[in-house]
This record gives sequence, C-alpha cells and structure tokens, in this order.
Amino acid sequence: MNKIIYLDHAATTRMNEQVLKEMLPFFSLEYGNPSSIYSIGRSAKRAIESSRRKVARVINAKVHEIFFTSGGSESDNLAIKGIAYNLKEKGNHIITTKIEHPAVLNTCHRLEKEGFKITYLNVDDKGLISLEELKNNITEKTILISIMYANNEIGTIEPIKKIGDIAKEHGIYFHTDAVQAIGNVKIDVEAMNIDLLSMSGHKFYGPKGIGVLYVRQGVELSKIQDGGHQERDLRAGTENVPGIVGIGKAIELAYENFEEKTNKLKELKKYCIEKLKENFNNIRINGDKENRLPGNVNVSFSKISGEELLLILDEKGICTSAGSACSSGTGKPSHVLVAIGLSDELANSSLRITLGNENTKEDIEYLIDCLKEIKKLRV
Ligand SMILES: *Cc1c(COP(=O)(O)O)cnc(C)c1O
Repeated sequence: MNKIIYLDHAATTRMNEQVLKEMLPFFSLEYGNPSSIYSIGRSAKRAIESSRRKVARVINAKVHEIFFTSGGSESDNLAIKGIAYNLKEKGNHIITTKIEHPAVLNTCHRLEKEGFKITYLNVDDKGLISLEELKNNITEKTILISIMYANNEIGTIEPIKKIGDIAKEHGIYFHTDAVQAIGNVKIDVEAMNIDLLSMSGHKFYGPKGIGVLYVRQGVELSKIQDGGHQERDLRAGTENVPGIVGIGKAIELAYENFEEKTNKLKELKKYCIEKLKENFNNIRINGDKENRLPGNVNVSFSKISGEELLLILDEKGICTSAGSACSSGTGKPSHVLVAIGLSDELANSSLRITLGNENTKEDIEYLIDCLKEIKKLRV
C-alpha cells in the first residue's frame, strides 16, 4: 500500500513514540494495582500522581482538581450529568449550543427526557455564539453553561473567557469541552473562569481510551458510575495506568515548542486555503478566519458530495473527513454546518481537512493535485 497522507487530526492523532515508550512498562513490569499498598502498587500510584501534576500544570489547575476518565465522551457525561443530578433541587436549566459534539448534545437530550430544560444557543455564520443571547437565556433555574472551547468540524474557537466571566457573575457553573483545543490553544482555567473542562488523550498524540475532567475545587458532582473509591470517589474503576502515564507525557509534549508547532500549522493551513481558492471556483471556506484552530480547513465544493470526495481521496491514500466522523455515514448533513447556515446540499458537499505536526507542504500539494484530477470539480 502507498504511503498514507493523514489529514484527519480532528478525528484522532498518531501516538507520539515518546509517549508509547513511557507507557510500555506499565503494561507488563509495572502491573501493580494503584490501590494496593505494597511496592508495585505504590509505584503505579506514583506514576498516576506524576501524570496528574503534568496535566494540572498545563491548564493552571491544582493537582487534586484533575480526574482521569476513559475519554472525552465520559468527561462530558460526568461533567454535565454530575452537575445536573447534584443541583436538581436548585434548578433544572442548562445552556449549551447547537454545535456541540454528540457527547454533549446526546447527554443533554437524555437529561431533557428526564425533565431538565435545555437551551441550545444559535451560532452565527462563523460558528460563534452571541454573548447577548447567552445572557438573555440565563434564568433563576440555570445551573450549568456547557459550551465547547473549539469546534471539531469547523475549528471555530468560542469566546471562552467572556463566557466564563458571565457564568461567574451569575453564579452558574461553566463546563467546556476542550477536546479539540488542548495542544492547539493555551488554556488557563483560573484566568478564564472555567469550572469544568474535558479533554481526550488521543486528540493530542496520546493514547485512546483515556481522558481528563478538570473539576474546580468546591464544585460537587454526583457520581455516574458506582463502584470503588478511585479518583477521590468520583470515578469508580481500577485506573488505566498506562493510559494515564501516556496522557501525562502527551500533554507535556503538546506544550513543548508550542509557538513553533502552532505557527507551522497556521502556515500550512493558510497555504492549503490559498491553493484551494487558486484552483477551484465557487468554494466556500467554513468557520471563522481569526478565531480558528491552527490546523482546521473546512471547505464546501458545491458540485460533489463530501462522501464521494472522501472515497476518491482514500484511494489515493489521503485520509480526510466529510464533516464529523460521528455524523458521517448517516446521510444527514452535519448539524454544525446546518447551524452556520449552509443548505443541506452544501453541507453534504463539504470536506474537513485537519492538519497535524507531521504534515508538510508536499502533502497539501499532493492533495490539491488529487482534487484537480476529479472531473466534477472542474469548471
Ligand atoms: C473526539 C471528541 C470528543 C470525544 O472524545 P473521545 O475521547 O473520543 O470520547 C468529544 N468532544 C470533542 C469536541 C471531540 O472532538
């Protein structure tokens, strides 16, 4: 098989070799249960705590505010259900947006069935929420605002600090799904007034099946899984020690040479957008020009479906996405592209190209050459 040109870093990333190396001993030699008090148990426990410190440092959190979970989806579930069930006597209203990941949207849908009221904020044509609309929807019953840091399909970065300030002013907890933002944006939970934050290891060159939920000190959550007393009695189950070691190493590496890496990604993205505009007429670049993840390009080509494009590119060894991996395959247009005002037809003719650290200008040139060969895209 030919070389793979991987342009789908919003779906997952290839694990860094250094991360793998740190994890390996914890699959075999260092197999102790962190709850056991003999030496190999204690050494697993130490590895977990060292990883917790690494995660905390990067987002300016306290060490005991970091909880390990099985991934971004579990972190979102635990944050939203945890607050909802704990505060149900106080209020039953949650504010989120129309462009959240299914891990947030479907959690909210379930809560709706259980009697909670959910407001799904609109976004403008760039994918940005309106702070006025947010303020206008706050009621006495509002217990949580959950708004994603950066969108996984169009890369739009929301005004997180301003949202955090509004939430604080009203005494409402603020959760953000930062799964796409970690490693791409600098985050300070104190300065931004974030109370709960979700992350996922496999989106920043770490392992799959491991995530983090940051919970501000003093914020109480109901448990959503019963069992042992691991993770300060918030998340039952024997810890995924290799995964925890891996996510700690991955987050440390993600913020090493940060400016250099993000600048390189921004340059590549700019080059990709320029080349697309130069070679194809009537295309539309979706999302916001300024407030955008460094490696995200989302483009609509009116003449061909995204699925068809994706399959043609796959034959050339190029991995891209026709919108969100979770919504593709259903035939339904992406809820994010519909929310920013695209017609179903245009939304269905969109391609998401998400660049990563290992991509080069040659990869973009190869992509453009392959797209140029597609007859339907010629004028
Ligand atoms: C990938 C992703 C998730 C889910 O994370 P998993 O670790 O795969 O469960 C949640 N939110 C966003 C924005 C994502 O991109």
